Amino acid sequence: MSGNLLQTPIEYLKGVGPQRGNLLRKELGIHTYADLVNFYPNRYIDRTRYYKINELRNNPAEVQIVGKIVHIKTVEQKKGQRLVATFTDGTGEMELIWFQGIKWVRESLQLNAPIVIFGKCNVFNGLYSMPHPEMELLKDHEQHLRSAMQPVYPSTETLANRGISNRVVNKMMQQLFLETGNTFTETLPAWLLEELKLVSKNSALFNIHFPKSANALAKAEFRLKFEELFFIQLQLITKNIVRKQRIKGHPFTKVGPYFNEFFNRHLPFDLTNAQKRVLKEIRNDMGGSAQMNRLLQGDVGSGKTIVALMTMLLALDNGFQACLMAPTEILANQHYLGLTELAKDLNINIKILTGSTKTADRKIIHEELENGSLHILIGTHALLEDKVKFQNLGLAVIDEQHRFGVEQRSKLWKKNDIPPHVLVMTATPIPRTLAMSLYGDLDISVIDELPPGRKPIQTVHRYDTNRLKVWKFIRDEIAKGRQIYIVYPLIQESEKMDFKDLMDGYESISRDFPLPQYAVSIVHGKMKPADKDSEMERFSKGKTNIMVATTVIEVGVNIPNASVMIIESAERFGLSQLHQLRGRVGRGAEQSYCILMTGHKLSNDSKTRMETMVSTNDGFEIAEVDLKLRGPGDLMGKQQSGVLNLQIADIVRDREILQLARHYAIKILKGDASLSKPEHQVLRVVFMEMSKKQEIWNYIS
Ligand code: ADP
Ligand code: MG
Repeated sequence: MSGNLLQTPIEYLKGVGPQRGNLLRKELGIHTYADLVNFYPNRYIDRTRYYKINELRNNPAEVQIVGKIVHIKTVEQKKGQRLVATFTDGTGEMELIWFQGIKWVRESLQLNAPIVIFGKCNVFNGLYSMPHPEMELLKDHEQHLRSAMQPVYPSTETLANRGISNRVVNKMMQQLFLETGNTFTETLPAWLLEELKLVSKNSALFNIHFPKSANALAKAEFRLKFEELFFIQLQLITKNIVRKQRIKGHPFTKVGPYFNEFFNRHLPFDLTNAQKRVLKEIRNDMGGSAQMNRLLQGDVGSGKTIVALMTMLLALDNGFQACLMAPTEILANQHYLGLTELAKDLNINIKILTGSTKTADRKIIHEELENGSLHILIGTHALLEDKVKFQNLGLAVIDEQHRFGVEQRSKLWKKNDIPPHVLVMTATPIPRTLAMSLYGDLDISVIDELPPGRKPIQTVHRYDTNRLKVWKFIRDEIAKGRQIYIVYPLIQESEKMDFKDLMDGYESISRDFPLPQYAVSIVHGKMKPADKDSEMERFSKGKTNIMVATTVIEVGVNIPNASVMIIESAERFGLSQLHQLRGRVGRGAEQSYCILMTGHKLSNDSKTRMETMVSTNDGFEIAEVDLKLRGPGDLMGKQQSGVLNLQIADIVRDREILQLARHYAIKILKGDASLSKPEHQVLRVVFMEMSKKQEIWNYIS
C-alpha cells in the first residue's frame, strides 16, 4: 500500500473524528494511520474461557462469567450513589457495581436474562464484586467469534473516562485494516525473511492485532521485535562507520621515549593480560587516521588508571598534550597524586585544575597550556572553561563517564580543529548486550580481569539490631591497623533528613570511638572542597581510623589500607551504587569486608539486592540483576532513558534477538555500507525515514 494512505491523519478514520483524534494525539501520540498500526497491545486475554463464581480467586486479571442479574438496588454513599446488582450463576453470588452513569445503566439492566459479564473482580469479606463490568446478552455474545487472545492496548485514565475503551480501540484497529486492505509495505529483504524464517510484515501486523493462534502471535512478535532492534543497530553501526571515515584524528604512529622508558623501567607491577590487550586495542585505534572514540569498561579496582597513563604517554611521544577529566575534585586530586607518583621519574609536567585552583596557579596553567610546556592536565569540569586552551590536545581521557553529559564531552572536542582521541573510562559494569545497543557507535574495550593476589571481599548483611557486634568487629580491625569507611545515603528528595542522619551517625560514632584512642574523619557534599581534601588526606595518610562519608567517596577513591566498608541504610542504595561503594575496599593485600546495614523490614527487591551483594563480587553479574530489577532506563540514568523508548522489544528480555539483529546489521553493512545494492533497497527506505525522524543518536555519542 502506498505510504501516503498511512500518513492520513487519524481523525479521518471512520469512527474517530476530531474529538477522539485529539485525545489519541494527546494521550497516546497517535497522529496518523501509521501510528495506529504501530500501536501494539501490551498483553492478550483469553475470551474463550468462562469462569464460575465459585472458581474466583483473588486474581488481578479480567474474568468472564455467564449468569443473570437477580436483584438491583441503589445505595446512598457519602458522595452520590452507587448502583449494585446481585449476579448469580448457580455456583454462587457476586455484586456488579456502578458509580457513574447510574441512571442509564439501571434502565438497560434486565432481570433474569442470561448475560455475559467481563471485568476485574475485587473481593471483600469473601464477597466478590466487579465494578463497571462489560456486559452482553448471552445470545448476542454467542454470535461473535471470541478469540483466545484478545488484545489489550495500553491506555490512560483520561482515555478510559472519555469512553475510549479497549473495545473502542479494537474497533478502530479493525476499521483501519478494512480501509487499508491489510497491505503494508515489506521492510526487510526477502533473503533475510527466508534465512531467519520471519513472517511477512503483513502477517506480523495482522497477527499482533488480531492473533489467529498463539503460534501466529509468537511469530508476529518475533518478527516485529527483530525489525525494531535491527534498524536501531543498523543506524548505530552506520554512525560508527561514518565517524571512522569522516572524522579525522591525529595519527599516533610513534611509540617513543616516554612510553618505553615508563614501560621498561618504571612500571610498578606486571600488567594483567587484560590490561595488555586493552592497551593494544587503544594503540591500534590511535595509530590510524581516524579519531578514537573508545569506551574502557573495567570493574572497580581492575586497573584502569595505569592504562590511562600509558595512553597519555603515547600522546606525549607523538608531540601532543593530554588531559584527564574526573567528575569530582576528590577524584581529580587522587588522579593527580597517583599519576604524579607513577610518572615522577619521567620528567613530565603534570598539573591539576579544579574549581578551587587559585588564580595565580590558574594563570600559570593557562600560559603553560598555550605554550605547550604543560604535558598533562588533570581536572574537573573546570577543564571545559573557555579560558582553558591547549596548544595541541591529542587525547582526552574521561573518567566515570556516566557523570558527564554528552554536551560537556563535545565541548572538549570543540577546542581543536582536529578532535582529540577520546578514551572514556567507566566502572559501571554495563552488560555487554546493553552496551552494544547503547554505545553502538563507540568502540568498547573491557578489562575483565583483576590484578593478581586480590582477596575477594567478604560481604555480609546485618540488621541495625546487630550494631554492637559490628562495632566490636570494627574495633578488632582497627587494632590490626586497618581503616574503616562508614557510608550514609544522601538522596536529593529528603536531603535535610539524610543530612541529619549523617551528622547523628557521625556524633554517635565519635562517641563510641573516642579520642585519643580513635580518630574519625567526615566528608560530605556540603563541605568546602579544601576541607574535604584535607579530611581525605588525613584518612589516606592513616591519621584517622574511620571515615564517615556520603556517597562522595563512591567514585574512584583509592586507599589500599582501608579494608572495611560499612554501608548504612543499605536498602536505600541501588545495586550498582552498592557495588561501587564496596569497590573502595579490597585494594590492598589484606582481607577486606563489606557490611550492609539495614532495618528489619525489607521489600522483596531490597532483599534481592542484599542477597546479590552477599553472593557475588562480579560487577557484570550484579549489573544483570540490576537490569532485571530496575530496567535499563534506570540503570543508565534519566538522561539516557529516552534512548530506550522501544515499541515492542525489551532490551533485557529480548537480548538474544538483539544479538541476532546486531549480527545481521553488521553482516549487511560489511558487504554494503551504503545500502545501495538492489536487495537492500527496502532497508534504505526505512533507514532514511528513521534518520529523518529520530535524532536519538545524538543522545549517545
Ligand atoms: P580502577 O580500575 O578502579 O580505576 P585503579 O586503576 O585505581 O582501578 O587500580 C586499583 C589498584 O590496583 C591500584 O592500587 C593499582 O595500583 C593496582 N593495580 C593496577 N593494575 C595492577 C596490576 N596489573 N598488578 C597489580 N596491581 C595493579
Ligand atoms: Mg579509577
